[in-house]
Amino acid sequence: MVNPPSTIQPILPAMLPLHSRNVAVIGAGAAGIVAARELRREGHKVVVLEKDNQIGGTWVYTSRVEADPIGLDPGREIIHSSLYSSLRTNLPREVMGYTDYPFVPRKSGSGDPRRFPVHTEVLKYLKEFGRDFGIHEMVRYETEVLNVGLVENNKWKVRSKTRHDCYIDEIYDAVVVCNGHYTEPRIADIPGINSWPGKQMHSHNYRVPEPFQDQVVVLIGGSASAVDICRDIAGVAKEVYVASRSVADETYEKHPGYDNMWRHPMIESAHRDGTVVFRNGNVVLADVILHCTGYKYHFPFLDTNGNVTVDDNCVGPLYEHVFPPVLAPWLSFVGLPWKVVPFPLCELQSKWIAGNLSGRFALPSQEEMMEDVKAFYSKLEASGTPKRYAHNMAGYQFDYDDWLAEQCGSPGIEEWRKQMYIAVSKKKLDRPETYRDEWEDDDLILQAEEDFIKHTS
Ligand code: FAD
Repeated sequence: MVNPPSTIQPILPAMLPLHSRNVAVIGAGAAGIVAARELRREGHKVVVLEKDNQIGGTWVYTSRVEADPIGLDPGREIIHSSLYSSLRTNLPREVMGYTDYPFVPRKSGSGDPRRFPVHTEVLKYLKEFGRDFGIHEMVRYETEVLNVGLVENNKWKVRSKTRHDCYIDEIYDAVVVCNGHYTEPRIADIPGINSWPGKQMHSHNYRVPEPFQDQVVVLIGGSASAVDICRDIAGVAKEVYVASRSVADETYEKHPGYDNMWRHPMIESAHRDGTVVFRNGNVVLADVILHCTGYKYHFPFLDTNGNVTVDDNCVGPLYEHVFPPVLAPWLSFVGLPWKVVPFPLCELQSKWIAGNLSGRFALPSQEEMMEDVKAFYSKLEASGTPKRYAHNMAGYQFDYDDWLAEQCGSPGIEEWRKQMYIAVSKKKLDRPETYRDEWEDDDLILQAEEDFIKHTS
């Protein structure tokens, strides 16, 4: 465990009058809509600024891709979503949904009732959440936030652009940043790539396999997207070579069940003659290099006078991945952690933010929060963990969730959800082809369904 949640004790609800704040939420994805709900439940006045014309963020699939396939051109038109057409969830519905709004198949039988449904099913779920909690009335669609900066009295000036190209400046007491972090590509550094003549692309711009028909593809990465996309492409490509940091340097093996797909270590170099050399010494003449190498945190609109920066893909300093100590609770971030179950985590972070803004909860002092962040960074350093893993919560996400819940006086994460997540994660590693359709945790499904009754009946 690199970063167990803070040991600072929660400050319990005080018997003080609560304050209602004017709060801007940036983004109406899974994080922004639950933030809006929690903030309004707490009595705040909420405006959600969303550049798209609908709720859903990442889950709004589009076949459109960006003009620069590896996303290096800062002037390119940004397409927000990174979904590919065949995507099914990599978490079972029971685990994935918000804690009090289960992600269960629709009673009408329409849609995709499977346990790991296609992406359209998630979008429907988020839209139903929006409808059932009156989120739409808080959202200003087709409104892009261009700048967020501090003004006098510790308030925020938010500049946005509407669909009619009108620029609006408004003052808010607090800003909650929910702009997502799967849009700005991170590219592998490959010696010789500038003279390599083939086509490069990032998974952000991958939608369907057809363009790879009969091509020789080198795919870099080992994440959930890489695991899906290599299989998608192997169905049409001539050959697929998967280069991954997580395998030994001598690795050279066929993917079980595939005649045209091999596993390799990372790329050593790329060359003018079109060849790509792997660390195991193997050489292939490739048409395409597909980077499934993750994303960067990116807040092009945020101006905090240096109080929040992104350093080696670590957003900080942030107390418990949410509040910059100097600006707390007036600026906050929802949904930064990765290797997590995002929806319930965003829900708990949002409750914590809402209660801190109203004064129902109190944060430690600025100095204490800063000390806590420094201790966290020191631990990372001492364990040899690069800063870019600061928001990686593999191994302790549920401790973090439970800590947040304790701060809010809310129930922690259900035991069945924790166990189900662990069971599925193991299955995903052991049987990447079949984990979505075969499972052995029916007992946990039953427990989840029993639990859901109180929210669905
Ligand atoms: P987003 O969904 O990205 O929403 C951010 C919103 O902010 C968008 O609507 C965007 O338009 C808006 N926005 C951004 N900038 C501005 C601006 N300047 N002004 C106004 N609006 C702005 N999670 C799971 O639980 N299960 C899965 O199976 C799963 N699979 C995934 C597969 C892929 C390929 C990816 C990329 C992610 C997957 N995730 C999965 C994680 C997913 O990102 C989260 O589930 C969740 O959707 C994140 O929500 P968010 O609100 O933080 O960000």
